Amino acid sequence: MKTDILIVGTGAAGLFAALHLPSRKHVLMITKKEAEQSDSYLAQGGICMLRDEEDYSGYFEDTMKAGHYVNDKKSVDIMIRSSQSIINQLMEYGVDFEYHHGHLAFTKEGAHGRPRILFHEDQTGKEITSKLLKRVRERENISILEYTTMIDLIVSDDNQCEGIVVENSDGSVSIIQAKYTILACGGVGGIYRNTTNFRHISADAIAIAMNHGIELRDMGCVQIHPTTLYSEKPGRRFLISESVRGEGAILLNKNHERFVNELLPRDVVANAIWQEMEKDKTPYEWISFEKIPEKKIRTHFPNIYRKCLEEGYDCLKEPVPIVPAQHYFMGGIKVGYSGKTSMDRLYAVGETACNGVHGENRLASNSLLESMVFAEKAASEVAVHIDGVEISDEAGFLVDYSKYNDLKKLQKDNKEMVLQTIETLKNELIEKQKSKVQKHKEIK
Ligand SMILES: Cc1cc2nc3c(=O)[nH]c(=O)nc-3n(C[C@H](O)[C@H](O)[C@H](O)COP(=O)(O)OP(=O)(O)OC[C@H]3O[C@@H](n4cnc5c(N)ncnc54)[C@H](O)[C@@H]3O)c2cc1C
Repeated sequence: MKTDILIVGTGAAGLFAALHLPSRKHVLMITKKEAEQSDSYLAQGGICMLRDEEDYSGYFEDTMKAGHYVNDKKSVDIMIRSSQSIINQLMEYGVDFEYHHGHLAFTKEGAHGRPRILFHEDQTGKEITSKLLKRVRERENISILEYTTMIDLIVSDDNQCEGIVVENSDGSVSIIQAKYTILACGGVGGIYRNTTNFRHISADAIAIAMNHGIELRDMGCVQIHPTTLYSEKPGRRFLISESVRGEGAILLNKNHERFVNELLPRDVVANAIWQEMEKDKTPYEWISFEKIPEKKIRTHFPNIYRKCLEEGYDCLKEPVPIVPAQHYFMGGIKVGYSGKTSMDRLYAVGETACNGVHGENRLASNSLLESMVFAEKAASEVAVHIDGVEISDEAGFLVDYSKYNDLKKLQKDNKEMVLQTIETLKNELIEKQKSKVQKHKEIK
């Protein structure tokens, strides 16, 4: 199979990139499951937008502070400055954000100095991604292949990406050649036991990049979400969005006492919960919705309310058990400001990619925004260069199919390799942070 531009992944990043590629070029999107099964669909809290010029320094500072001030400042600036344009485009695509007295309504989440998050009930990701998908399906130049899994890249001798190797829905292996390939494969949740992510979103692109020596960045920076609904059932952990705490929910230990400021950055709150769990010798702590008016819970958080009820907890009447779980990956395939990787003709966007915008820790509701800002930039750059690129007749000869005889083992080894790398680098980062705190104490 051949296409002009191949996009791997149908989340917000992949879809937004597809919509910004020239309509005279054929775009093929592939996805591991159904097109709707992306983490972008799961986003609850919302999407940030710069409210006005006065908000710029506060928004910049909140993003940098959450990221421990190691964020790439230019990436942060690009993201914030592009936010109003992204929101306008989304509204043109038909996305319905909440309004209050005729104006866009803003909510607040942890570590934001002021409300600057747009939302649609507690299903903002579904609202945005379903509208993007609808627009993509209307475009004649874009096709989507579901149940098709990228298992490798095709790389020429001069280090150019000629396309990918895929496992088809019937288990057969074949190749897709492309002038440009854009990786939009999401995060790493599927390699962890406790995660809020879909299980099939499991660091595939990152593993494949590692196997080809493509540059990576910030690989130790994994985000744990402090509040997921505790359950003994296997599978994905259900998120209790940060905006619940932004609207007044509080965290309680087993004696029903508060133990942390709920609006501190995610890593700080998650650590506080773990410490309390250790003290209490329990596998969870509690979140109480009692300070949020019932009407607000029913209108702003209907999905969370329903899900808690399904698990046997009425959050209007009682606290709900919560536990931290893997949620987001700040690191990934190293890219420039237009999503270009270290390999020619290969781009990466969204959670798979890392341009340093989140630093060591992502500020809540910055990721949908970031995914679309840099997806648009990648699409624009590809559009500029594509006419000068030809698909090679040699690509088929570059593939050694014997490597894929035992796909299960290959995929298992890949997951273990990424997990081990992340955990080793994460532990190094924690040690570095501890010694920084120690040095700071000594100086004081
Ligand atoms: C529960 C939850 C709540 C969240 N809430 C928010 C929020 O309120 N605000 C916010 O900004 N962010 C939120 N996030 C984060 C945000 O949703 C994601 O970071 C963002 O949507 C990532 O988009 P993406 O397009 O990069 O990847 P995804 O949306 O994860 O899409 C990845 C795509 O890649 C495909 N794929 C993966 N591997 C392969 C392969 N090997 N071959 C083929 N296809 C493949 C998948 O099938 C999928 O289509 C939340 C995340 C979760 C899990």
